[in-house]
Amino acid sequence: MDFLAVIVAAGSGQRAGPGAAKQWRSLRGKPVARWSLEALLSAGARRVVVVIAPGDEAAAAEAFAGLDGWRLATGGATRDRSVAAGLAALDASSEDIVLVHDAARPLVETRHIDAVVAALADGADGALPALAVADTLKRATAWADVGNPAVTATVERAGLWRAQTPQAFRAGVLAEAYAAWPAAESPTDDAAVVERAGGRIVLTPGDPRLMKLTYPEDFAMAELLAGGVMTTRIGQGFDAHRFGPGDGVWLCGVRIPHDRSLIGHSDADAGLHALTDALLGAIGEGDIGDHFPPSDPRWKGAASSVFLAHAAELIAARGGRVVNVDVTLICERPKIKPHREAMRGRLAELLALPLDRVSVKATTTEAMGFTGREEGLAAQAVASVEMPG
Ligand code: MG
Repeated sequence: MDFLAVIVAAGSGQRAGPGAAKQWRSLRGKPVARWSLEALLSAGARRVVVVIAPGDEAAAAEAFAGLDGWRLATGGATRDRSVAAGLAALDASSEDIVLVHDAARPLVETRHIDAVVAALADGADGALPALAVADTLKRATAWADVGNPAVTATVERAGLWRAQTPQAFRAGVLAEAYAAWPAAESPTDDAAVVERAGGRIVLTPGDPRLMKLTYPEDFAMAELLAGGVMTTRIGQGFDAHRFGPGDGVWLCGVRIPHDRSLIGHSDADAGLHALTDALLGAIGEGDIGDHFPPSDPRWKGAASSVFLAHAAELIAARGGRVVNVDVTLICERPKIKPHREAMRGRLAELLALPLDRVSVKATTTEAMGFTGREEGLAAQAVASVEMPG
């Protein structure tokens, strides 16, 4: 179904606390306003106007980088003036279906959009998602400096609904309704304007996911809702390097003085290599050699922290996170124990994890095998990762 859309992102959002206006803040690594724009474009919006506050042009350009099909309009002092500015910039013909959506409701999905567009196609003058009020409603005195507000009445909740967005209208109907709206009043949604003009508005199924980010604590709730179901994954890795001439080894990102060094194309940090393979293994991304071929001169002598950071970035880019890691170093010498805490600290720093989620252990093989004969050193690692879906 063909439709156009206006996203209202011009609010200063003072109730959401200090810092950047809420529409430009990050939600699960993505600016709040970008969630809505991506959802509307992927649901088939032919054109989207994002109404922003004066001076927010750079923030918007950064938030929407790489997306096509949108343009900006500058909003007014009130929500209704911002919507009017958006409609003017939309350049719609009167029969076009226009969706008006609050940027502060980032978790809109195609099904919400399809429902309001379909209701309009069925002949309504306007459609919006709404949730039936489930809590008992009280009327009370204003919040006082001293004492608690006093209840003055219990309000009948039957037939009451919480209005959400996106709200759908024919462009001509919405424009005419706004033209007739009294300048002294500020509507809190667009359906109210079309209702006042005599339009027939219908409700489509609302969704807790369409919550409006208003207060600071709303962000934590939206983060949870945006995350959906997370699945725990496990990956494991193993690596070994041969000892050769030198005066120290790199292990788990820490340089340890020794009478020999580990030989390898990079810095031969077997601990980081095993851990990188564990992270890659947890997300089915092959092994360290696939991402950093030993034949590539760029990785000659490279700090292996680069490899670990790359694996962690692959996880983060898919909306996942590392839960905990556990590395075991296997050698007779150098003695690991004096350096263990430094290694844990370095891994915690590289993976941005609290210290209690990072373990480094060491063992010998009681003089048996290649590690026992001190021909080389081995490492194994296990990582637990949470991924969406
Ligand atoms: Mg290696």
